[in-house]
Amino acid sequence: MDDEHPSTRTFEVLSNEVRLRIITALGDASGLDGYATLAFSEIQRAADIDDSGQLTYHLGKLCDKFVEETDGGYKLTLAGIRAYQAILALQGGPTVEVDPVEVDRSCEECGAGLFAWYTDGRGHIGCRACGTIDVQYPVEAALVDPENPESVTDALDTRIRRDHNAMFHGSCPYCGGATETTLKTESDYWEAANMNPQELLIQAACTRCSWFVIANAAAVLRTMEPVRAFYAERGVDIWSEPIWTDVIDWVVDDVERDPIRIHGHLAFDGDHLRVTLSETFELLDQQIVADA
Ligand SMILES: [Zn+2]
Ligand SMILES: [Zn+2]
Repeated sequence: MDDEHPSTRTFEVLSNEVRLRIITALGDASGLDGYATLAFSEIQRAADIDDSGQLTYHLGKLCDKFVEETDGGYKLTLAGIRAYQAILALQGGPTVEVDPVEVDRSCEECGAGLFAWYTDGRGHIGCRACGTIDVQYPVEAALVDPENPESVTDALDTRIRRDHNAMFHGSCPYCGGATETTLKTESDYWEAANMNPQELLIQAACTRCSWFVIANAAAVLRTMEPVRAFYAERGVDIWSEPIWTDVIDWVVDDVERDPIRIHGHLAFDGDHLRVTLSETFELLDQQIVADA
């Protein structure tokens, strides 16, 4: 290893108790009205650093990359904000567990009521009778409250909603990289994870950090504007229900090969929204048809 990794110096700067406390103090003092500027003495107090020479030394190390000096004191730079967000994201650890709580949905395999729970840094929705897992997604431990099991479904819903909207529309919410969407045909993943087999699965993966999400067709269709509009015009807000609720009645009519074209429709109250989707699950064509 002759060449230094380009991030070595960045992490060397951050790998210090006092500097992490300075970044955390500046971040914690910020609020809905923006990122805070703190005077030297305010940082000293908030970060609990007795020795002002020590604070001067470590502030110097953080300027200009993570902290910038302004008229009124010091504030986080964009890199400093990212560092603060990383500190928050990694807090809590995998030890948080939330006991299963019933959700308003039953198991497609066995009909038993489904439960939501939190373990290993992930929220889950699944069947305790037959072991089928419907939903499984990482959620920061800090977002769930062991005293309030509903916090698991709330956090899962918010996070999956955001990630589906971003990932299936070209952008990774974690690193900002471009995403690519593909149809997932192999079943290995689902068998390995004991997932519920579903007809059509779509994967969006980040070309930069490799983060990926997998969803069924109805979940991806839900993120598309013409689909939202079709339901909205009929008085249904498909976003008012949790993301795992089957608010969309999706039927595949035909799949053409070479090139792959998926023809299907969504039905509501006598009207059909017919859609044609590509091999990357891009909406190529749509048409509203009334029942004859
Ligand atoms: Zn079951
Ligand atoms: Zn990414």
